[in-house]
Amino acid sequence: MLDVRHCATLAEAAGIVSGDRQAVLLGGGTLVMRDVNEGRLTEGTLLRVTDPVFRRIEAGGGRIELGAGVTMGMILANRDLAFLHAAARAIGGPAVRNMASVGGNLFAASPYGDFTVALLALDAQVVVQAGFGSGRAVPLEEFLAARERSGPALVTAVQFSRPSNPGEFHFRKISRVRPKGISVLSIAAHLPQSGGRMAQVRVAYGAMAPTPIRARGVERALEGKSLDAGAIQMAKQAALEGCRPATDAIASEWYRREVLPVHLGRLLAGDGR
Ligand SMILES: Cc1cc2nc3c(=O)[nH]c(=O)nc-3n(C[C@H](O)[C@H](O)[C@H](O)COP(=O)(O)OP(=O)(O)OC[C@H]3O[C@@H](n4cnc5c(N)ncnc54)[C@H](O)[C@@H]3O)c2cc1C
Repeated sequence: MLDVRHCATLAEAAGIVSGDRQAVLLGGGTLVMRDVNEGRLTEGTLLRVTDPVFRRIEAGGGRIELGAGVTMGMILANRDLAFLHAAARAIGGPAVRNMASVGGNLFAASPYGDFTVALLALDAQVVVQAGFGSGRAVPLEEFLAARERSGPALVTAVQFSRPSNPGEFHFRKISRVRPKGISVLSIAAHLPQSGGRMAQVRVAYGAMAPTPIRARGVERALEGKSLDAGAIQMAKQAALEGCRPATDAIASEWYRREVLPVHLGRLLAGDGR
């Protein structure tokens, strides 16, 4: 039987998650409720958190914190988060975006997880209050690597620094159906410039591995260079390092490998196609 619990505080939810192996956090429910409706989830406790902190956005300064219950719609309505609008707009259609949460996106199986790709390129930290790594801010890359192995968890927020120049943050999602298609792949890149050269480059992919991943080869190829044709060519050559894309109903592994360098090159060149 499925039980539904409403938790007025994050502490209450954390207590339940810590003691109940069958606890399932309900974010917007766009994935959980599909599992319930299609009979894949029939036992356990669904937890709905009503603590306002869970849906709080702190985006006025240089350090940004998004409560895990913040939805894509809330991000799109916030001008301070304009640099994240392309990533939030990439999630489903309007009805999904009004429910889909930041926390739920961290757990969405590939090829979903487009917003998490943007967070990875921002070097985000995940605040966990119960379960995996609880009580600390976990680097998102570490969180994703352990995601499948860990049991129930309560993520309360994600934190990251605002790009000092929003124009240096880029996101693109490649899908066969526009505007609502599922990802063939997605790419996010933060390319800060200092004295005409790139420093602390972060590039991330979605749908190119079982979880969103950092594109380490591309980061190495770009670090310390000017963003010119030579650097872009080097980045394209390194594009597939660390990739393990799946073949699924959206695209074959072969296709994803073929098109990734093309789209990476276009993103780096500022080509809007
Ligand atoms: C029609 C449709 C289109 C979609 N299109 C896209 C798309 O284009 N791109 C994309 O990335 N996704 C897409 N999705 C998938 C999904 O909507 C998003 O990934 C969304 O962000 C998931 O968030 P949610 O709050 O709905 O998650 P939920 O369904 O509530 O939860 C998903 C998982 O995360 C866990 N979870 C949720 N919040 C927390 C938390 N705070 N702490 C611990 N665990 C938590 C849940 O227990 C569950 O295991 C689509 C879904 C549908 C139905």
